[in-house]
Amino acid sequence: MKSPICSFDAKTGVLCSKCEAKLRGGDISQDDVDASTKLARIADRNQDVNKFTLLRSVRVDGDVVLVLRSPDVSILRGNNTLSEKIESDFGQKVWFVESESSDRRFIEGLFNPLRVLSVNLFWLPDGNKLTKVIASGNVARSRFDLPKVQKIAKAVRNIELFVEFEQR
Ligand SMILES: [Zn+2]
Repeated sequence: MKSPICSFDAKTGVLCSKCEAKLRGGDISQDDVDASTKLARIADRNQDVNKFTLLRSVRVDGDVVLVLRSPDVSILRGNNTLSEKIESDFGQKVWFVESESSDRRFIEGLFNPLRVLSVNLFWLPDGNKLTKVIASGNVARSRFDLPKVQKIAKAVRNIELFVEFEQR
């Protein structure tokens, strides 16, 4: 498994001087370190996870966001047992997001199982940009947490989400 820290550090939970310097210099965060060691523990016993590349991790409220390569996220989407196992080992809700996908695909992943109908970018007069999403689906049944999704989009990709739900 590849992660923001060396695999030896991830296995032992102790940082070498190089990774320690990266952490102090702000190149990596404590969230990256925590997620790397937790995921490495799972990788020890799981071939799929052992091939994962964790690029970074962010904590949003009580949840953990793991930014992984797209093939890794595809494996997780097709294997609920594995994603549930990772969540239970982390002891938190875990979001799996793709590092290299387009913004639209990234947003679709966050909204799943709701459907994203359109994604449009707007520039505000103050120079900030706003991403307007129109989505449909049963918000209540899917337990969709919009404020959380907005925070994750902001934390991972600096996307300011404005969402409208299509009534059907
Ligand atoms: Zn290291």
